[in-house]
Formats: sequence, structure tokens, C-alpha cells
Amino acid sequence: MSQAANSLLSTSVYNFDKAAERLGLEAGIKRRLLGPKEKIELDINPILPCGKLINAKVFVVRHHDALGPAKGGIRMTPTVTLDDVCGLAMEMTWKTSLIGVPFGGGKSGIRLDPSKLSETDKEVVVRAFARGASHHIGPEWYVPAPDMGTNEMDMAHIRDCISYSQGVSITRGCFVTGKPVILGGIVGRREATGKGVVYTVAALCERIGRNLEGLRVAVQGFGNVGSVAAAEIGRLGAKVVGISDIGGGIVNDKGIDVQSLVGYAKETGSIQGFEGCADVDRDDILEIPCDVLIPAAAQSQIRSDNVDKIAADIIAEGANAPITPEADEVLKEKGVRIIPDILCNAGGVFVSYLEYTQETQRDQWTLREVEGRLRDRMSERFNEVYDYSREKNLSMREAAMDLAVGHVAEGVYARGLLP
Ligand code: GLU
Repeated sequence: MSQAANSLLSTSVYNFDKAAERLGLEAGIKRRLLGPKEKIELDINPILPCGKLINAKVFVVRHHDALGPAKGGIRMTPTVTLDDVCGLAMEMTWKTSLIGVPFGGGKSGIRLDPSKLSETDKEVVVRAFARGASHHIGPEWYVPAPDMGTNEMDMAHIRDCISYSQGVSITRGCFVTGKPVILGGIVGRREATGKGVVYTVAALCERIGRNLEGLRVAVQGFGNVGSVAAAEIGRLGAKVVGISDIGGGIVNDKGIDVQSLVGYAKETGSIQGFEGCADVDRDDILEIPCDVLIPAAAQSQIRSDNVDKIAADIIAEGANAPITPEADEVLKEKGVRIIPDILCNAGGVFVSYLEYTQETQRDQWTLREVEGRLRDRMSERFNEVYDYSREKNLSMREAAMDLAVGHVAEGVYARGLLP
């Protein structure tokens, strides 16, 4: 398969086509689910505090909204494309459907390298995005959140920009999730995706009679998802033997002290050189013999050119679409258990839903409540997918897709097909 055929959009479309075939969806409904409902490409031209005017492409995609407003994060990377954002928005539709929250799927992209922007530069860019995309954002339309390259401070600036334009100190309704707690965010949102990943691994271990304690784990990516997942699985007794970030990898057969590594990475800007660990190449982490591999970095990391070197029994997809369709086939043949992205990393959007309802109802949730609901929902949905996969003799990805797509199709039929 060519590089283009390995794009995130082609992976999403491939998985959808297969589900539509298995479910026997008729052509009209299939077309309607393939979407997207709306895709927008904008140019923003903010003037940075240093006086330099820059140009950036911005994308906003609402893939589907039969079950509720489009929901999904804002990705800021130097290479993000409209096609990527379409694929990610489609993934969000299945993710919100599967995890059972009343949202559709959406996503945004800002084509800039956040590591090249100072904090104030980034604030100007994010505010320019919020202004430029303001007609497409709203509690009933599309509600953004953090994704790769964006964080809660960026969400704070979006919220501020919108409330400023409304002439009020709070926004009228929930326009964005993943905000700082002080501005109406919810406790535990930042950790939700990474913890949710671990809850699905724990649920799988329970079903297959394995003990999480002592399992060897490798984690690709040390951002918001990878670092939290590594710390949480370590806390539950597993042994994290390898971790990578953008600059390289580290290994320690005796187990890495992830809590201290978080502080070290913050201080030095890198995970390499951490005490007691050996430095290795970034890509070596994927190939470590281990029980659980958590790809939590970027899309298309496990492909036909490296799939034969994967030596894990379980893969928990912390990132969106980290495995290409051909690599997925190979792993399926080998009997590797894959917890698919739309299930595995859905904890973030689930807690975004709690934030949305908290803000709408002017309620306040405690960390214990949020974590309890997250843990319950992740294991409940995991078991549903696992049972369905056993019953129908499907992989967990196929089962998750069939349940998610089937649920959205049911919603479309329930609304009626006439305009
Ligand atoms: N960016 C996250 C995701 O891909 C969270 C989206 C959200 O909370 O809306 O699932």
C-alpha cells in the first residue's frame, strides 16, 4: 500500500466500509454516515507579539450530528491536513457513539508547529483561530477540546475570546471543554484519556484471566496520554520497561519510575538520560518484547514495514489510528489483542461530556465522582465490545466499529429520512 493509502482518512474510511458491509447498510444511509456534514478551510493571519505577520491554514470539520453536537479536539501540528481532520472527525463520531454520550463527531486542525511558538505567540494564534472559526463553534454545533499540540491554556483562551465577543464574563453555554478548572473545567479531565486507556487494559486482563501486576508494558509517546497511562499502569503494579517521546526512547528491564520521569522530562525537556535507564532509538520502543504496548503518539506508527517486529500480546491504542489496515490484518492473524482507539482512548471525550453537563447545569463534580464514572463507563463499554466480538467472532476493532456505526445508523433512522 502506498504512503497516501496509509493516510489517517483512508484508515478511517477502510474501517467504516468494512463495518458498513458487515452491517449490510444500504447505499443511501452509508453515504450519509460517511459524511462529513461540513468541512471548512480557513486562513488565519495573526500578527505575533514580535510584529511578524504569519499565515496558517485552519480546518474545522463536523462529521456527523445525528446524536448531538459535533465533539472533538483541536490538533496543532505543522503537517495536519484537511483529510486528516476529516478522518479524525469521523473517528470522533464512532467514539462518542460507542462510549455512549449525546454528541456527534468533529475535529479542528491548525497547521503550525506549536514547539516553534512562544506562549504568547500561541495565545495570539489560538485567539485568531477562535475568531476565524467562531461561526462554526457553539454548544449546539461543535464543541472543541484539546488534542495533539493543544492544552487547557489554549481552551482558556478560546473561552475568553468567545465570552468577550458575547459581552459577558462567562460563556452562554459550553463552547469548549478541557478548560482549566478555575474557568469551568472539570477535575480529572487532563488525566482522563490516559487513565481510560489503562481501565480498558485492566478490563481486558480481567476477562482473559491475566493479572495486571507484573505485566511488562511499553509506551510510545510521553505527552498527555502516554505519560498519564504509563504512570497509572505503573501505579497499578505493571512494570513499564520502555518509553519514547519525540526525541528518543529509554528502557529499563527492572521498570521505569514514571512519576520521577515526569519531573525529569519537565526539567530537561527530554526523557533521555534518565537515571537507571539506557537510551535507545525512538522506534525501538515499539519492538520491545512485552505484554502490553501502548502507542500513544501519532497515527500510522505500526505499518506493513515494521509490523513483523511487534512483539506484544496486547496493543492498547492510546493514539488515534496508530495501526494501518494491513498491519492490523497481520496482527489479527497473529492473535494480538488490540483494544481499538474508538474504545481505548474515549475516556477524554467521556469526561468532556461530564464537563459539558457540569457547565450547562452550573454543577460541581468531585474528582472521586469523575474518576468513578470514568472507570465504570470504560469497563462497561469494554465488556460490551468484548462480548460482542466473542459472540460474532470478530476482532475487538470490528466489534467496536459495528456497535458504534450501528448505533449512529439507528439514530439517523429514528430521526427520519425526510428533510
Ligand atoms: N481530542 C480527544 C479525542 O481525540 C478529546 C476530544 C474531546 O474531548 O472532545 O478523543
